[in-house]
Amino acid sequence: MQVIQIPLLRDNYGYLIVCERTDEAGIIDPSEAEPVLQQVEKEQLKLKAILNTHHHRDHTGGNLGLLERFRAQVYGHRIDRERIPGLTHPLDEGDEVTIGTLKGKTLFIPGHTKGHVAYLFDNKLFCGDTLFAAGCGRLFEGTAAEMLSSLKRLRSLSPETLVYCGHEYTQKNLEFALTVEPHNKKVAEKLEKVRALRAKGLSTVPSTMEEERETNPFLRWESAEIQENLKRKFPDLGSDPVSIFALVRELKDHF
Ligand SMILES: [Zn+2]
Ligand SMILES: [Zn+2]
Repeated sequence: MQVIQIPLLRDNYGYLIVCERTDEAGIIDPSEAEPVLQQVEKEQLKLKAILNTHHHRDHTGGNLGLLERFRAQVYGHRIDRERIPGLTHPLDEGDEVTIGTLKGKTLFIPGHTKGHVAYLFDNKLFCGDTLFAAGCGRLFEGTAAEMLSSLKRLRSLSPETLVYCGHEYTQKNLEFALTVEPHNKKVAEKLEKVRALRAKGLSTVPSTMEEERETNPFLRWESAEIQENLKRKFPDLGSDPVSIFALVRELKDHF
């Protein structure tokens, strides 16, 4: 299995998943069609599937343009039947998706939107706008409790899992992470690396789940430093994970 990252729009990433045995490919979250078509042509692939993590236009905007050129199956959560252009294969938790001989699993992870899913191919996780490198998506349609339970689910995946998220937000996310956990050395170290990569215009994605557990403030509700910092500023804050997560999310919204 080969993964080709395609920068789209301003800071989105689409991912071509290639079955090297059959040259069949699937595209995760085509924000726009043209750059995907160019890559498919360059690699001489047969585009067989469009896999949308959620309905937002910056993840589905290329669906119809691709369908004009390829007869691809279009996957997305069944709740988004009316919202994902060209959807042919409505999915739910645990459903299998296939690209050539590759098999992926659907994880239902609502919170950013009601119908958000991730696709897991072996140890490669395509998680859209739920989990970012050092961040998480905004709560547009879900509650903090829903998002937290989705993030818990992702956090429980093996530490070697490669995290292919939907946007290049890593630098800003790490800058925020330092404001809630200033003594986390892993965050400071990663920020330095990420700044160097970004200065050269390079991608900081994928990360690993291990890195996310160490540096992502939205997976670190158990961190004593985060809890103490928040309680100092917000003495009424509860100690339960949902309250902590919700406050970190709110602070990030205004960062
Ligand atoms: Zn989104
Ligand atoms: Zn997005």
